[in-house]
Amino acid sequence: MLVDGSINRLLQDLNEAKAKENNIKLKPYDTQNIIPLLKSENPMLGQVYSKVLQMVNYTLWSNLKGLSASKKRGRGRTIGHIRFKGYGWYNTQNYNQSGFKLDQDHSILRLSKIGAIRIKLYRKMEGCIKAIIIKRDGKRWFAIVQADQAPRPLPKTEEAIGLDVGLNSFVVDSDSNSIENPRFAEQSSKKLAKLQRKLARAQKGSNNRRKIKDKVARLHKTINCRRDNFLHKLSRTYVNAFDIICVEDLDVKGLKENDNNHGMHRSIHDASWSKFIFMLSYKAQSAGRKLIKVDPRNTTQKCSACGSIVKKDLSIRVHECPYCGFSCDRDYNASRNILFSGLEQPVAPIESNPLHHISVMQVLAMKWEAAPFRTR
Ligand SMILES: [Zn+2]
Repeated sequence: MLVDGSINRLLQDLNEAKAKENNIKLKPYDTQNIIPLLKSENPMLGQVYSKVLQMVNYTLWSNLKGLSASKKRGRGRTIGHIRFKGYGWYNTQNYNQSGFKLDQDHSILRLSKIGAIRIKLYRKMEGCIKAIIIKRDGKRWFAIVQADQAPRPLPKTEEAIGLDVGLNSFVVDSDSNSIENPRFAEQSSKKLAKLQRKLARAQKGSNNRRKIKDKVARLHKTINCRRDNFLHKLSRTYVNAFDIICVEDLDVKGLKENDNNHGMHRSIHDASWSKFIFMLSYKAQSAGRKLIKVDPRNTTQKCSACGSIVKKDLSIRVHECPYCGFSCDRDYNASRNILFSGLEQPVAPIESNPLHHISVMQVLAMKWEAAPFRTR
């Protein structure tokens, strides 16, 4: 890319000034001023939008700042110099504040000095767009949109809900909905394994190897996009329908149930839960809703009808209370305790309801303005 040369040149000037040790201390402003000179030396750079070059300068200085800060901290690590970037190294262009125009209706992104590019929009962008970062990932290019969202309060619903995230169902809520756990990674695992075998056989440095690598990267990206889509829609549904959403504090829960029974997929689910709760929290904040994180202690063991402690290990899927006779799904019982704990209310008796199963497809089929799924 064109900016390769410019960042190298900026680095070179900095290093030369340093090497001479002649007390010349360059400041961001000085390297900023080199840009017109660079442009005159290399007319090709004129084609790069000036703000992008300024961002290159800015990125360089913040990298250097980080570097000198970690040098000061020391910690016995060896800290090198920032490397000169070779061709193709600098894969990011940052359009800050201006120099871009996003036409969402026609999926076209216009960039200064580059022109109109047809893009695939993963979802509709809301709010005031502050910056667009153009990034290369393998052969493909991505535009990362940074937007400021003004809070958009939703009308009050006077409803509250407790959510229990788990491994069997992704969520069981206190309205007795059970949301299927998405298995996007597992669904693609055969395909991925096949590609990885091919990759192992491919000759290093060959075109074929590059192609397979790109396919692997694309598959990972697809899996992530699907998962994000699912999490966005599910969190949006709950935020739209409830004034108060209660969840377990996962930072505490992680320590509590740190068992190795669930193998490699556990980490994927952990990441999904954290992301889900993060999405709930910022969507709730913007909508004027409340997300309450409760202490996960005893949410599973306590009877949500009478408050007695009913011990059960992980394999027991049903809560059966010998004291009051209440019997229900283990996670449903937990979601009710999470709700009561969040509202700081005592437990309350209830008729046992069968869970209402909601599939991943049903979640994905929801519109952005998702109507809630309610069973009562
Ligand atoms: Zn009970």
